[in-house]
This record gives sequence, structure tokens and C-alpha cells, in this order.
Amino acid sequence: MKDPIDLRSDTVTLPPLNMRKAIARAQLGDDVYGEDPTVNDLERMVARKLGKEAALLTPSGTMANLLAILSHCSQRKRLLVGDLSDIWKWEAGGASLLGGLVYDPLPTQPNGEIAIAAMEAALYGEQDFQRVPAGLICLENTHCWCGGKALSLEYLARVYEFAQRRSLPVHMDGARLFNAAVSMGMDVRQIATFADSVTICLSKGLAAPVGSVLAGRSSFINNARRLRKMLGGGMRQAGIVAAGGIYSLEQMVDRLSEDHANALLLAQGLAEIPGIEISLELPHTNIVFFTLADHELSLKYFLYSLENEGVRVSELGRRRLRAVTHYGVSPEDIKFAVEAVGRALARTRAAALPVAEDFQPWHQEAEGPLEMTTLVP
Ligand SMILES: *Cc1c(COP(=O)(O)O)cnc(C)c1O
Repeated sequence: MKDPIDLRSDTVTLPPLNMRKAIARAQLGDDVYGEDPTVNDLERMVARKLGKEAALLTPSGTMANLLAILSHCSQRKRLLVGDLSDIWKWEAGGASLLGGLVYDPLPTQPNGEIAIAAMEAALYGEQDFQRVPAGLICLENTHCWCGGKALSLEYLARVYEFAQRRSLPVHMDGARLFNAAVSMGMDVRQIATFADSVTICLSKGLAAPVGSVLAGRSSFINNARRLRKMLGGGMRQAGIVAAGGIYSLEQMVDRLSEDHANALLLAQGLAEIPGIEISLELPHTNIVFFTLADHELSLKYFLYSLENEGVRVSELGRRRLRAVTHYGVSPEDIKFAVEAVGRALARTRAAALPVAEDFQPWHQEAEGPLEMTTLVP
């Protein structure tokens, strides 16, 4: 049995053999003492690429974002964040729970932007002592929930100018910033220039097993380094992690264009399947959202059948299916996945399960039970 084509996320990427070799060869030291040469190399490399003074390796993007927020804001400040951002939706409320900060989730437009007018409205009447003063603006680029949209430079410049006028720092959650840069044919530095701090993830499409990096001014990174220790993110021979990251940045960036081409292929293929609903606006990068046009069909059963066909996608938001292309997924895999979606949809229609009950694996549907080969027990 072939391994399933796993399109749930680009976090499922496994390190290439040569990356593993680079990890094995890495020079190591104690990074809490600042003595791991490979970590120091990675941090300098990221700072240089992003045009920032300094950078800091973290175990995850969630921690990098949290450190950025805590380093920019003292307690009792308010974060202007998109209501569909990772920071607001999927980072477990760390800024409130650990930082004494208040989230102010603002409407996200379909292209991933927060309208400047919405920020302006959120800042209206700041002087009133009844309000929690704003402390930071957070943007996400590319925007995951909005289908991997890259924010335009023109928008970023306007936000940055607006923020500077209000003396507010801007943090960019650039978990997939390299996808943005590659899709726009630009250097990441040109994008990062419109933010005071930037998070990048090494462990998504760049295929490193672990790690994210936060970049910004030296004083800001010094502060973040102290907070990283507080949160338990001070890692010792972290060059093991950093070596993978260096390999990612040297070898895995340019190939992201293959993922973008595959996402386009996938979107086009899915759009041809009657019964699949997909935004006709083509993906900018590596994320494709789609749904079943017939809301009476059991989505759980569809996912189960698709998995049985050897393809995995995820549900991100109610009845929103997400497929992400990444290292290890080929154009042939995409062709296979499109056909599998067609078959799983036909099977779902045939099963005609009432949505009210929705499908549970213990259902014995009319066709007889499916052979489960890939679902975890
Ligand atoms: C994945 C992701 C994160 C968090 O990264 P983890 O390493 O999973 O903690 C943050 N922001 C965005 C946009 C992401 O996609």
C-alpha cells in the first residue's frame, strides 16, 4: 500500500536526507550560554535575510509570536489582530493568559488584510480611561485561513505608515513568509521592511523538523531571549535544530514555487469536479480551500472515504476543507488526489448518510464497511 498523500498541512513535511546529514554534522555547544555555533549562524543568517538587527531561534511559531507580543507590549495593552489569524485562533490565548494582554480581533478581509479603517475605528477614543490602550498590530503573511494569500507591499506599506503615526509597532506572523516572497518574485527583506518584528517557520514548507525564528531590533531580541528562557524555550545543543534550518534556508526556498504550481493544479482539478465548491480565485501560494456544494452530505464520511482512497486533507473551520501542497508532493500525486476526491464524493453521495447523525466510524453503511488502511485507530 502506497503511503497516503498527506495534504493536511505543510507541517507534515519530513526532512530530506541531505538535511539529516547536515544535522548529523552540525557543530554544537550550549545555546543557553550563547555557545552553539550553528544556532548563532542560523540567527545571523535569518537576521541578514530579513534585514533585521538580530534573530532568535524558538521551538515553534507559536512561541516566536508569543515572544514578539510580550516583547513589544507591557501588561494591560491591547493587540490588534485579525479575527482569522493564527495568533488569535490557534495559539491558545497565550498573550492573555501569560502576558496580561487583551486581544482585539478585527475583521479579516478575504485577501487576508485587516482594513486600515477597521484599525482606525479600533483606535478611536484611545484617550478614554475606560479603554485598554493598544500596544501592537499583528499581520499574517501569507494568510493561512485566507488560502495562503500574500499581502501586497502596497498594503503593508500603508499599515506600517499608519502604525508609525500612532507609535504602534507592527509584528508580522510570517510563518510562510518565504511562500509570499517566492510567489511575488521578491526578496523576503522587501516584505519584512514593513514590520518591526517577523516570525518565520522552518518546519512548514521549508521541511525542517523543528523550529521557528523571530527577528527584529537587537534590544527587542535580547528581551525576547530572556522571555524565551522563562517559557522554557532555552534549548541546549540546539544546533541540531538550527542545522536543519540552515539547510532549509539554503536549499528549500526556491523549490516552494513547485508547491505553488501544484496548488494551482489542484485548484484547477477540483474546480472541474461537479459538486466541489472552490473559490475561482486561484491560490497565490500553497493552500487550497474547498467544500462540498451539497450541504446535506456528511463531511466526516467524505473525509473518511478520501482517506480510504489514500489522500488526507483537513477540515479547517466548519465544512471548510484544506489541502496544502508541500515538499514530497508531486504533480502526479495531485492528479491522483483530484481523482480520489471525485471517487470519495461519489461514495459519499451513495452512502447518503443523514448529516444530523453525521458519520461515525462505527456506522455500518449500506455499502458495507470501508477498509480502513490509514486512519489511526
Ligand atoms: C503554523 C503557524 C503558526 C504556528 O507555528 P507552530 O510552529 O505550529 O507553533 C503561526 N502562524 C501561522 C500563520 C502558522 O501557519
